[in-house]
Amino acid sequence: TPKRLISGEKRDEDFDASLRPQTLGDFVGQVAARDNLAVFIEAAKTRREALDHVLFVGPPGLGKTTLAQIVSRELGVNFRSTSGPVIAKAGDLAALLTNLEDRDVLFIDEIHRLAPAVEEILYPAMEDYQLDLIIGEGPAARSVKIDLARFTLVAATTRLGLLTTPLRDRFGIPIRLNFYTVGELEFIVKRGARLMGLAITEEGANEIARRSRGTPRIAGRLLRRVRDFAAVAGDEAIDRGIADRALLRLEVDRAGLDQLDRRYLEVIAVSFSGGPVGIETIAAALSEPRDAIEEIVEPYLIQQGLVQRTPRGRMMTQAAFRHLGLTPPPSRPE
Ligand code: ADP
Repeated sequence: TPKRLISGEKRDEDFDASLRPQTLGDFVGQVAARDNLAVFIEAAKTRREALDHVLFVGPPGLGKTTLAQIVSRELGVNFRSTSGPVIAKAGDLAALLTNLEDRDVLFIDEIHRLAPAVEEILYPAMEDYQLDLIIGEGPAARSVKIDLARFTLVAATTRLGLLTTPLRDRFGIPIRLNFYTVGELEFIVKRGARLMGLAITEEGANEIARRSRGTPRIAGRLLRRVRDFAAVAGDEAIDRGIADRALLRLEVDRAGLDQLDRRYLEVIAVSFSGGPVGIETIAAALSEPRDAIEEIVEPYLIQQGLVQRTPRGRMMTQAAFRHLGLTPPPSRPE
């Protein structure tokens, strides 16, 4: 049944469901994305039409799922949610699509992991609100067309490059999410603390924000862990000192890099003299899947100027050597 494909709350061990922003106004940061969405939502509501299909692109934890839920709430329509790897067969997606009502939002997370046969039936569904299904096999096979409700597909991906061009082209509203600034994360940490009934100083919030890898999900997770340390230490408010001690115990360093980030840099520095080295080689040396490294580890390190992607492979910068406390070899990029 389609129910099996519909996952309600997702990954909410990270952050209480109640901490998720509920409206565009509550959503911190991503100003350009928010402003554009507000206009498109308003226009669709005025015309009483389905919103154009939306594609959110960006690293994990930046708010793609949260924004998808907000879009459906602001439109005042139903929210149905699934993800690319969960939809095994074309029939699974057909079942989901035929259950939608006019203007509903269907959210597909990790859309780059859709099976090709499933993707095929998505094209006419997105373009003409029609399902083209082949019934039967061999000479008896025939195709049937089924009309669908005028729905909005909201999809999310961490890897735009893995999307086929025809699929990418069918989204009228592509939106890229960027890492958050420290100021935005401070705001998110203070909001989270308020909702959790925690006392936190400005400096405490700043310390957690600076070390959250530009990512609200990580900010929420760190806040919860720091809260535990503060409670055990009997501290009244979370200040910079307790935040710093807690984060070092959690092996989040002063630049916000975690164990895997540091292992990644150390492997390149020590085993490959700082690179260039291919991603497959790095993945093998770390015994981590290549996908996880490209999706989770590298985007932030590249944004921070610690690593560069070159045609010959990954290269560490001088800043990365200094971060590890090593002397950079000569002729390294800054
Ligand atoms: P993604 O789908 O991009 O992986 P999510 O939408 O699941 O990310 O967001 C991860 C967590 O971070 C959520 O629990 C949400 O509460 C929080 N979060 C994300 N963006 C924001 C934001 N702009 N303001 C406040 N909290 C946010």
